[in-house]
Amino acid sequence: MRIVPIPCLRDNYAYLVICEATRRTAVVDPSESGPVLAALQREGVGLDAIWNTHHHLDHTGGNKELLDAYPELEVIGHVLDQGRIPGQTTFAGDGDEISLGDEVRARIIHNPGHTRGAISYYMPDLAAGRPEGQSEAGTIPSAAAVRPAIRSAIFTGDTLFAGGCGRLFEGTPGQMHASLSRLAELPEHTEVFCGHEYAAVNLRFAAEVEPGSKAVAERRKKVDQVRQNGQPTVPSTIAEERATNPFLRSQVPAVAASAQANESPANNSPVEIFAALRRWRDRF
Ligand SMILES: [Zn+2]
Repeated sequence: MRIVPIPCLRDNYAYLVICEATRRTAVVDPSESGPVLAALQREGVGLDAIWNTHHHLDHTGGNKELLDAYPELEVIGHVLDQGRIPGQTTFAGDGDEISLGDEVRARIIHNPGHTRGAISYYMPDLAAGRPEGQSEAGTIPSAAAVRPAIRSAIFTGDTLFAGGCGRLFEGTPGQMHASLSRLAELPEHTEVFCGHEYAAVNLRFAAEVEPGSKAVAERRKKVDQVRQNGQPTVPSTIAEERATNPFLRSQVPAVAASAQANESPANNSPVEIFAALRRWRDRF
């Protein structure tokens, strides 16, 4: 199994998921078709499925043209996104298992908050896979190219970002906090592939929230270097997010104190602190 990040639009990421045994391939969140078709050509594979994390146009905008090129595509999204995802053929729910070729099994995690039908695709058992980024010329080099094989991975769309989380367009702070808490409980080595390249600004915010955090300062430095080299910051890991992402840390006293000082939450519960952090980030 290999994961290939594809920069799209201004700061979106689509991803190819390739089962190397069978060459069957899915694309996660094709915001536009051009870069995806080019990546398929570079990799020498066809396309079998679209995995949409939610209905927003900057995650589904390429669906129609990809269906024109590959009319047999399976198009997966949450059942609540019925009528909102172009070409949707599979209406998934929390806990559903999907497969691709011999090597790829993914579990659907329903994480409402950004939108009501937002889902993540969690792949728990990838031990047999090869490190990503080791294909021929044209593949985007990423930090993962020099790391050992991925053991587990997740595509989080606009729910969990590197160092941040998505805005609350259709959900409540309580829903989003519960959704993010579920993701935070995944194994720490799980690699997180999110929908946008927002890591630098997210970590600038994290440093405002926790000015005394060495972990945030170190991650920020690393991310700034990666961006200066023009490389994607994905993937991160659940361990990194737990250590530095303020939206997974509303139970931490320093984070709660910072939210109290800046946004006056109604009380000190993790959900109210989360809501205050999200309001603060919205105007950051
Ligand atoms: Zn979105």
